[in-house]
Amino acid sequence: MTHAWLITGPPGSGRSRAATTFAAALVCEKSGCGQCQACRTASTGGHADVHVEIPEGSEILLDHVKPLVHMAAQAPMTATWRVIVIEDADRLNDRAANYLLKALEEPTPHTVWILCAPSVNDVLPTITSRTRHVGLRTPRTEAIARMLIHECGVDEMIAAFSARASQGHIGRARALATDPDTRERRQQYMRAPLSLRDLSSCVVVAGDVFDAVSAVADARADRLDEEELQLLKSRFYAEGVTRLTGAMKRSHDSEAKELAKEQKRRRKRLVIDEVDRALVDLIGLFRDVLTVQASARIELINDEMRPQIEQMAAGSTEEETVRRIEALEHERVVLFAGGSPRTVLEAAMVQIKDPRIRAVVA
Ligand SMILES: [Zn+2]
Repeated sequence: MTHAWLITGPPGSGRSRAATTFAAALVCEKSGCGQCQACRTASTGGHADVHVEIPEGSEILLDHVKPLVHMAAQAPMTATWRVIVIEDADRLNDRAANYLLKALEEPTPHTVWILCAPSVNDVLPTITSRTRHVGLRTPRTEAIARMLIHECGVDEMIAAFSARASQGHIGRARALATDPDTRERRQQYMRAPLSLRDLSSCVVVAGDVFDAVSAVADARADRLDEEELQLLKSRFYAEGVTRLTGAMKRSHDSEAKELAKEQKRRRKRLVIDEVDRALVDLIGLFRDVLTVQASARIELINDEMRPQIEQMAAGSTEEETVRRIEALEHERVVLFAGGSPRTVLEAAMVQIKDPRIRAVVA
């Protein structure tokens, strides 16, 4: 067994999903059945022997890595392996990376590290050389559509739409194909630019999008939280026990506290991820506008919106479209650097309305 893995792929290629699925396979009794509690909790960060480190800021600092290395030194609690996943390992700063390096050089027998990054070049060579590399590619639209027809049993039209709209992001494609609410929400994001009349409407539209985003994130977080709380309870409360005492109670309370902290972080992260989805969808829309403006013979991502896209193309210049795309890309960076999701959406709407305005970088 290799003790350190590096999974690389562009955003949306499913690198974090590959990492957590691999982690689940290591802690599942049936090598990753996808059904059992171990599998389900491992992929969402609720398994006692699987830790998924999701960086909140633009850098992973030494203080973030130290507890992970400490964790790695301990034997697993219930599974055969203790698995530590670091998403966005490209954000490790030098000190943190060097500290991690020591742990990778002297692996503990039952610990497996899984690092994720966009490419091998984004990680220190010293780290790369101590990991086994797995590279993922963005699949083609047709391949995604075929997968949706076979795996999700959806019809050709929905499959084609979902594959195009996902822009190569498989998880997104699957959600679009199988969940009408996800499609409806996407439509709401895409309609946003059409309702911007003045600055105050930008704030209103951003607020509506933010509310939709929060509803999705909360629903998902509530479901995951509940499952983990039940799991924690089942581990401590034996049949017939109604009250914990002594060491048992202390141990339960400390785990419950840790879990609550973890759940709060995840809830925040789910909002950020959904805001990012909205921004990526809007970037796709303006890429289509640019495609029409440049008379390029490329398939539109949002072919079903062709009339609106042609109208937007006729009503603006190529330069304005490019500025809008740049502004949206910039807001994605702000979002992942810790910017408030609501403010990011407001800034995005204002810059779509008036591409001459530039958000001030703090
Ligand atoms: Zn399983």
